[in-house]
Amino acid sequence: MSILRRVKGLFGSNQASARLGACDTCSASLSTGEGYLLTTAEVVTSEGHWKRVLQAYPVLEMLKSDKDKILEIQQLVSQTAASDTPWMACSKCISLFSVDRGRAMRAAAEWRRTGEPSQGSALCKLEGEGLNMIVKVADDTNYRAALNAATKAYKSL
Ligand SMILES: [Zn+2]
Repeated sequence: MSILRRVKGLFGSNQASARLGACDTCSASLSTGEGYLLTTAEVVTSEGHWKRVLQAYPVLEMLKSDKDKILEIQQLVSQTAASDTPWMACSKCISLFSVDRGRAMRAAAEWRRTGEPSQGSALCKLEGEGLNMIVKVADDTNYRAALNAATKAYKSL
């Protein structure tokens, strides 16, 4: 369950820990000036991100059918896509994402200086919990791309 805790902890309310400079993917501390700032869309549409997450996601091994696993992955995608705050990546983990590194590095510097953008990155909102969870999608294109990326990553494991 570590990833869920991380989704809710680091990306939810506890933004201060991210400000201090830790990678949201591997939790490594960042050295001064290191790091890339990513939007939620950039993270969740990256197959590399999902490969890394799903390789270390014990819940999947407890589920028996492929259908249940896909449902679990969809729920994980929704929970991650609902993160409204930006993500920090270290210089190792940035290779998981297909992004413009120059832009992401400048965004990180700006974020350290100003704390902005502090929010506005979520692709969807979640209402309710567990089986009663309702996903209200705000960015359909990226949300679908995220589901595709996660499914592809799962199938490649
Ligand atoms: Zn990292």
